[in-house]
Parts: sequence; C-alpha cells; structure tokens
Amino acid sequence: MTPNVLRNLFTKSATRLYPKETRETFERARGEFYNEIKDCIFCKTCARKCPSQCITVDTIEATWQYDPFACIYCGVCVENCPEKCLRQKQDYRKPSSGKEVVFMKGEIKKKKKKTEDEQS
Ligand code: SF4
Ligand code: SF4
Repeated sequence: MTPNVLRNLFTKSATRLYPKETRETFERARGEFYNEIKDCIFCKTCARKCPSQCITVDTIEATWQYDPFACIYCGVCVENCPEKCLRQKQDYRKPSSGKEVVFMKGEIKKKKKKTEDEQS
C-alpha cells in the first residue's frame, strides 16, 4: 500500500475539476443542440422520432419544447428535421443546479399562394 500512496502523492490527478476544468470535445462529439425557431415548421417529426420523448411540439400555438435532462444526445431529431433547423453543437451542455426546460415560440408560416406560372 505504501508504494501506491507515494505514487499517488507525486503524480498528476487522473480526474479533472469539472466544470472549472473541461476537456476538449472530440471532433464528432454530439453536444448541446438548439432549434433555429424561425425556420421551424412545427411538423412534429423531431418529437415523433425522439426515443426519449423529450420534445413537445404544439402546432396550434407554434411552440417547441425540449427537456435537456431527458435527452440522450443521440442526434436522431437533428438527422430527421426536414427544415434542418435543429442543429447540434460540439460543446456539451453546461451543468445546471436546477431542472429546466427549453421553451421556444415561433410562428406558423402561411402557405404561399401559387403564382399563375406555377398553376399552369
Ligand atoms: S422536425 Fe424540425 S421543423 Fe419539424 S417540428 Fe421539429 S424542429 Fe421543427
Ligand atoms: S438528441 Fe435524441 S434524445 Fe435528444 S431530443 Fe434529439 S432525438 Fe431526442
């Protein structure tokens, strides 16, 4: 036991003082993700595909809600978003002392009227 104690006293710690000290993320790390709400069409694809059921979309109120504490950062919602408004950062989400939900309000886009050229 003594050699172990001595070795540990004079070698660098194997752990980090997170969140003060953070590790660089890997090249293809799936980190915090966000919704560019102005481009969202509230199609609910992300909510339907999410294996954790942590996304709620209200098509009437044009709201998008997400529980980051239930998210497993699988990236399925990002891959399936038809408008590509869901994006995933490389950095991980910052730690938090309380549970919070991400809530966003957008606008339902009106369908464009077909021009005479498109109708013919
Ligand atoms: S899949 Fe994309 S466009 Fe559809 S509701 Fe989700 S974030 Fe919006
Ligand atoms: S990353 Fe995965 S778990 Fe998180 S919201 Fe998207 S589909 Fe759901």
